[in-house]
Amino acid sequence: MSGKRGPSTTAVHGVIHRRAEWSPVAPAIVQSATYVNPVGSDEHILYAGDGNTPTQVAVGQKYAALEGAEAAVMVGSGMAATALAHLAVLRPGDHLIASRWIYGGTQRLFDEELARFGIAITYVSPDEPRLWRKSVRKGTRAVFVETPTNPLIRVLDLEPILKVAKEFGLALLVDGTFASPINFRPLEHGADIVITSATKYLNGHSDAIAGAVAGSASFIEEVTRLMRLWGQAIDPFAAWLVDRGLRTLAVRVERHNANGLAVARWAAKQKWITKVHYPGLETHPDHAVAASVLGGFGGMVGLQLGGGVAAAERFLSRLRVVIHAPSLAGVESLISEPRLTSHVHLSPEQRSALGFPDGFVRLSCGIEDAEDIIADLEQAGR
Ligand SMILES: *Cc1c(COP(=O)(O)O)cnc(C)c1O
Repeated sequence: MSGKRGPSTTAVHGVIHRRAEWSPVAPAIVQSATYVNPVGSDEHILYAGDGNTPTQVAVGQKYAALEGAEAAVMVGSGMAATALAHLAVLRPGDHLIASRWIYGGTQRLFDEELARFGIAITYVSPDEPRLWRKSVRKGTRAVFVETPTNPLIRVLDLEPILKVAKEFGLALLVDGTFASPINFRPLEHGADIVITSATKYLNGHSDAIAGAVAGSASFIEEVTRLMRLWGQAIDPFAAWLVDRGLRTLAVRVERHNANGLAVARWAAKQKWITKVHYPGLETHPDHAVAASVLGGFGGMVGLQLGGGVAAAERFLSRLRVVIHAPSLAGVESLISEPRLTSHVHLSPEQRSALGFPDGFVRLSCGIEDAEDIIADLEQAGR
């Protein structure tokens, strides 16, 4: 645990330990898959596939400290983290209540895979909070939500969900990828388990795939058991890259927050942008909740361009600094159209009903100079 140290210190140092004389300041990458075993030892072997080698373990401990969790485990991807956390909670015949505002991959995992295990799912629109309670039935075991959400950057009020979870003894799992533990720590707000795609802000450099789960020690022990059996351990080099990213997490997120706010404020004044989705703007439906629970409003901005697909394609093809690519949270600004990426499985009508008709683009503000991001958006949209 980080004790009373701040998140920036924890992101740099992890769990503070006495450094041996002449030891390297930068953590070594221990890339070895296997380790010399004492003859006759019945202790657990050291094997990278079991996720118990030095580089893998250290990054898990650092992430636990950042979330304020008893324990955490770093795994091979955000999808692996989501899958393992749910497999650890749910049994055949169980029922899961899930927010309707979730990552497309998560939705497919629930619909195509959890259903195969005989796990039933009820989706709830968080803007109808009375439905959390109404959806509880015999066999309901857990509630899953994502906050802030993709792609409209809605920020959920966990209070009504927590009340129901407590009353019925349900586990609350939260995917907090869009905030990172710098902006939001779900466990401090009553969640039982945090899931994150470390591919995003934790790594932050668009050069590794990883995920993590944090929670109680007994829960993480079960996730670790499943990680071994389902083969989802993180590669040591990817773990090292995530740790390297983590060292600058706090300063990067500060800049992502500043750039997100600057871009959103500028965008709100442009006639060709018909709507801006950013929780730091007073016009955002969750501004009050966001201001009370988030440490910063983040780098993700949703822009609705007037003129539909044609306008969006013209805009994207003229960008020079901002890169047209899926994924998010890298040091470089990235932009994509959810209609072709995260929400490709929905019809245009369904996407409209959810609030992002064709012409919507999702911008992940990087850590470049805000004026350069804005100038690029301006020249492309003019
Ligand atoms: C990207 C993402 C995931 C999946 O993570 P991968 O590392 O790509 O497997 C899950 N949840 C959210 C919110 C994401 O943005």
